[in-house]
Amino acid sequence: MNNCCISDPIVPPVLRTFSYHYRQKLGHGVGKIPLGLGQPCPNRLLHGGCIFCRPAGFTPSYLRGTDDIAQQLAAGKEHLLRGRFIKYFAYLQQETCTAVPVEKLLYILQMLLAGGDCVGLILSTRPDYVVDELLWPLADLVRESGKECLFELGLQSVHERSLKLLNRNHGFIDFHNAALRIQAAGCFELGAHLIFGIPGESREDMLVSLRTVCAMGITHLKLHHLQVLRETALATLYEEGQINLFTKEEYLDFLLRALPVIPAGVTIHRLWATAHPDLLLAPKWNCLAGKLSEELRKKMTEQGVWQGQSATAAA
Ligand code: SF4
Repeated sequence: MNNCCISDPIVPPVLRTFSYHYRQKLGHGVGKIPLGLGQPCPNRLLHGGCIFCRPAGFTPSYLRGTDDIAQQLAAGKEHLLRGRFIKYFAYLQQETCTAVPVEKLLYILQMLLAGGDCVGLILSTRPDYVVDELLWPLADLVRESGKECLFELGLQSVHERSLKLLNRNHGFIDFHNAALRIQAAGCFELGAHLIFGIPGESREDMLVSLRTVCAMGITHLKLHHLQVLRETALATLYEEGQINLFTKEEYLDFLLRALPVIPAGVTIHRLWATAHPDLLLAPKWNCLAGKLSEELRKKMTEQGVWQGQSATAAA
């Protein structure tokens, strides 16, 4: 939903952040430039959308739907990278990028891969919108480019009742099938996006989701707590008093249980949501991401906790 990665990377081996992973792998930091292809999400068009989703929640202010990709890239370099990074991932984060007709999408992705400073693609999408007609030609393009391509599949939970509540309109089986086909292509990275704090889920339910995707061999994770954005169906439930949300302390304590089950080699792109204050209804922690990282690092150090600590048992 939002475009920030963990802003204050924690020194390994405690946690493999996006920042740490790519500094290790490429010898320098890389940024992510969110891009939009202008297509609406089919789940919103056909079924009203996920109850927590609001497009503005993950649209950077500089991104204008009317701009072409080159203009968006230029704006992204100026606003997001701000000279901190030269190299970047082209991050197809808006809506469901693979809903774009395959031929058009392949043309755009090939153009993005050709960018000299582009180190790869991140395709954020729904698991029921990953077709073989895209995967195999894209695998050829990725191999030819020598760059990286990560499929970041929105799952949120492995529990069917939660997927129903969220109005996802796909099942865990769709994630499972998409993951196998992405892995079969042999050149893609695979990531999962999970939300912690879905109404009705216990801490153990959340850990089951995490253990399940880790056992499937994912290499990247995007995790965050549930945030309620204004003017969403979730906001109505919240205002009716039907849902409980993590407090900051509860969430950090939960992360101390969750991080050990994530294999040490998995790259963690995010651990919390950071919606714009104007859009955020709850929970309001009044704490910047950097401060959250600091507090988490302190707790991990004090309690002797690190990523991968119990991953073997988890798998
Ligand atoms: S699938 Fe993604 S973009 Fe579409 S409504 Fe759900 S969260 Fe929003």
